[in-house]
Amino acid sequence: MAAERLLEVKDLKVHFNTPDGIVRAVDGVSFTLDRGETLGIVGESGSGKSVTCLTTLRLINLDTADVSGQVLFKGRDLLKVSKEELRHVRGKELSMIFQDPFACLHPYYRVGDQIMEAIHAHDGCGKNEAKKRVIELLGSVGIPRPDQRFADYPHQFSGGMRQRAMIAMALVHNPDVLIADEPTTALDVTVQAQILDLIERLKQDFNVGVILITHDLGVIADVAQKVMVMYAGRAIELASRDDMFAQPLHPYTWGLLESIPHVDQKGTRLIPIQGSPPSLIRVPPGCPFHPRCPHRFEPCDKDVPELVDRGGHPEACHLSIEDKRRLWSEREQLRKKVAS
Ligand code: SF4
Repeated sequence: MAAERLLEVKDLKVHFNTPDGIVRAVDGVSFTLDRGETLGIVGESGSGKSVTCLTTLRLINLDTADVSGQVLFKGRDLLKVSKEELRHVRGKELSMIFQDPFACLHPYYRVGDQIMEAIHAHDGCGKNEAKKRVIELLGSVGIPRPDQRFADYPHQFSGGMRQRAMIAMALVHNPDVLIADEPTTALDVTVQAQILDLIERLKQDFNVGVILITHDLGVIADVAQKVMVMYAGRAIELASRDDMFAQPLHPYTWGLLESIPHVDQKGTRLIPIQGSPPSLIRVPPGCPFHPRCPHRFEPCDKDVPELVDRGGHPEACHLSIEDKRRLWSEREQLRKKVAS
């Protein structure tokens, strides 16, 4: 049976007019998300991944941005629905977890009360019922003795526990889609792994679709079924996780992969990507990655490569598929040779 399509983003563009020029934060991004699936969106800072997701939830002010395209959530275009309908969808059917849990929890209020508030914002159910639900949720996200911890203040929680509490808050209404924006960046490495495991388990328990935003391809290696790589506001490669790691096709993705450590390739050299991501006001002509790309050739600084679907693996690069396979294989061999 085909999986239920929850979200379909089509040709999304988000441009901001500033005194210095037009910031093309998102420039024609399309993707889908099914129930029970995790989509990882990967890219450096300023690649447009967070703005893509904030716009999906219509959390940016449409009066100050030039937004086009469609965000179809179970068939409704969220860019067009009324504010009342949007309020119902946001937080209830589509929920978001942010990077810094401490900034999202008010220090003066008890953690349990803050989660109860999120229940009342949509349901208005009785106090006892809401409290029971919060304690259940705190338990399901792995907070020990949840009935006692309910009354704690945020400063009495560790960073990992605060993130667990934020995840509980995002789940109060059994949403269909959970968007997690760099949910582990502010946490220790061991806690990061626990939070990723938790999101993976909750995806199954709550049967949701998950969008996981990260700058680190390694973070999504174990949890995403599908990966979209973004650069300069554009999707430059989109593939299943297995394809993305076994046969990446875009030189930028190669750079991301070569800059993360692999436990099974101890001793291999980490290679950073040269240069910095471009300003979104002055995106380079042609391929936006060309000033940093070691494989650029004649048309790269003039012609923008279109996203071309190569057997369910779309990517935007002028190199031929044969050259991509050869170059990736040579880079892999060189990396291992240097390490040995
Ligand atoms: Fe490199 Fe050219 Fe491909 Fe861009 S289009 S990634 S510059 S080879």
